[in-house]
Amino acid sequence: MVQTSGQEGAADYDIVIVGGGMVGISLALLLAQQHAEWKVLLLEAQAYEQSDQHESRPSFDSRSTALSWSSRKIFSAAGLWSALQSHVSEIKKIHVSDRGHVGLTRISAEEAGVEALGYVIENRWIGAVLLEQLGATSVEVIAPERVAKVVAMKSKVRIDLENSGETIQTSLLVIADGANSKTAQKLGIHSDQQPYGQQGIIANIAVQNPHCGVAYERFTDQGPMAMLPLSDCDGLPRCALVWTQTPERAAQLMAASDDDFLQALQESFGYRLGIVEKVGERIAYPLALTTASEQVRRNVVVLGNAAHSLHPVAGQGFNLSLRDVATLADVLGAAKTAAIDFASLETLEHYQQQQVADQQKTLLFSDNLPKLFAQPSSLMALGRNSGLVMMDLLPSLRGRFANFGMGMANKEAGRGK
Ligand SMILES: Cc1cc2nc3c(=O)[nH]c(=O)nc-3n(C[C@H](O)[C@H](O)[C@H](O)COP(=O)(O)OP(=O)(O)OC[C@H]3O[C@@H](n4cnc5c(N)ncnc54)[C@H](O)[C@@H]3O)c2cc1C
Repeated sequence: MVQTSGQEGAADYDIVIVGGGMVGISLALLLAQQHAEWKVLLLEAQAYEQSDQHESRPSFDSRSTALSWSSRKIFSAAGLWSALQSHVSEIKKIHVSDRGHVGLTRISAEEAGVEALGYVIENRWIGAVLLEQLGATSVEVIAPERVAKVVAMKSKVRIDLENSGETIQTSLLVIADGANSKTAQKLGIHSDQQPYGQQGIIANIAVQNPHCGVAYERFTDQGPMAMLPLSDCDGLPRCALVWTQTPERAAQLMAASDDDFLQALQESFGYRLGIVEKVGERIAYPLALTTASEQVRRNVVVLGNAAHSLHPVAGQGFNLSLRDVATLADVLGAAKTAAIDFASLETLEHYQQQQVADQQKTLLFSDNLPKLFAQPSSLMALGRNSGLVMMDLLPSLRGRFANFGMGMANKEAGRGK
């Protein structure tokens, strides 16, 4: 590798990934498979052994993630799916309904001709599996560590580390430190934030009746809610709740006793799963659509939530980012094999061109869905209910909705493995 304009004596890496959340670790794993000789460093702000401290650990808190078919294919191709599979609950049906209105639709895996419409897994399991796999690679991990200063040089990026005070340099800096990235800001890459004026409350819920692999998407006047199937716990069926609320109502629900919270949930969700018996730890997230002003520069890529952070109702954020990760790893790997500068602007723009259509479609879908269902006006209610009724009548429309959820509508733009 040509080493121009680097700093004498500074540890030199091919690729430094800042942010060891679900996206940063996934990329590190895929890069290690592309070229084992690459010198890759992962910098994570939090110590991994503190992974149960949810407040400071955005990726691996008590949330669950609905993985799409496209994510399954990427993890399978990377040889990671078999380790994840024992922790997932398959989504066999999606049940979409609108509280207080007639519209209702069901989408089934059987009808879509697939084994499952998605796979729900607790983030802590994703973290445990990915970290274990990472330990078997040559990727160097420093955690806890933060970036104090970043300087773009002629053909390298110089990074001053906060805790150790050391200076390192890299050919490619991948910024994956989450929404409103501090590292990107240090390079003058800004985030455009459009708040939804809503909070997403997440919690695991034990219910009376088996969910039978059904994911419930329910639209209420306050905002959408999802109850996703999880594995049983202590003999009780469980679901992962994502409940969108106004900030005021979210504050009330967060402060409520478990009994009051469960009563409010029962009223809003109904009795499709019988009595909602228990609620686990609750966490509230302010919801916003956040996009980075730039995703690639020479020697720099912005990835994951740092590049685009979406409304969670459509369950697309990580799935989209994983398609970005897979495409980036492929493009970098191909450039390296062809002895082309993998950190050049041309190579990185090639990656971005491959992902732009997928990103735009997914952003639009995730942005429009909650807005459509947040409108209380009767005209909108009529529109969305006839939309749901239409979906139940028209298999092709239902198929398109299901395909989108599975990441299939994006397969030309994403990785079609
Ligand atoms: C309620 C909710 C439900 C969701 N459900 C789904 C779903 O079902 N399906 C789906 O696909 N997506 C879902 N998402 C989106 C998904 O969680 C995100 O897309 C994903 O977490 C993004 O991962 P990330 O690694 O980019 O960012 P993060 O998870 O934010 O991780 C960033 C990492 O960087 C570290 N970090 C921060 N600053 C620094 C620094 N200066 N230096 C070093 N490290 C740093 C952090 O400690 C963290 O580990 C959901 C999101 C929410 C909020």
